Amino acid sequence: MDRYAAEREEMVQRQLQSRGIKDDRVLDAMRKVPRHLFVSRNQETRSYWDCPLAIGLGQTISQPYIVALMCEALELTEDSECLEIGSGSGYAAAVMSELCHHVITIERIPELADLANTNLKGAGYSRVDVRCSDGSLGYSRKAPYDAIAVAAGAPATPKTLQAQLKTGGRLIIPVGRNHHYQDLIRIRRLSDNDFQSENLGGVAFVPLVGKEGWADPT
Ligand code: SAH
Repeated sequence: MDRYAAEREEMVQRQLQSRGIKDDRVLDAMRKVPRHLFVSRNQETRSYWDCPLAIGLGQTISQPYIVALMCEALELTEDSECLEIGSGSGYAAAVMSELCHHVITIERIPELADLANTNLKGAGYSRVDVRCSDGSLGYSRKAPYDAIAVAAGAPATPKTLQAQLKTGGRLIIPVGRNHHYQDLIRIRRLSDNDFQSENLGGVAFVPLVGKEGWADPT
């Protein structure tokens, strides 16, 4: 127990359960992961607020509800092999690692890959691998995956990511032609060539920048 345990419990009840998050494993993971160890010191008191927070370099740690929603939609089990695109602070990767067997998380900005790695190790998550590369191309060396979470908005679903799903695997990705507003889409691979797509609702993520994402603005 740490001094934020009561705030986390309140977060779970007021932000997650009240909005329909039901999976007990996801709720327990959100109760457990110390989000305050993934935000900058000057924002620590806001760690459990119902909003995203800046983590530097124009990027954000996602709102707790969105992390829980994505984890629930990914249908993670203890055996799942998972890939996350957009490590940022490392927080969502920590939540995912509470729910599955192994997580690889990819970040394109080297400073943030270092930040995610430092935060994850500092919070005791030694089983998460952080890699620095263009995650719009996934990570073929360890493919296929049971679950892929993309934490940045793409103009269209990257075909390479779909191809890295196992049969039965799930990909959650924000997709939209606007740089900052997207639909959260769940894609399920039914067979080699068959993919089912569902819209889980409107979201606002930072852009996925890369070969199968948006062009680099710099
Ligand atoms: N999951 C994070 C939040 C991620 S914000 C957390 O829990 O804190 C989105 C992140 O995606 C940013 O850090 C951004 O740099 C990264 N990103 C954008 N395009 C990317 C790409 N092509 N490959 C990997 N990371 C990317």
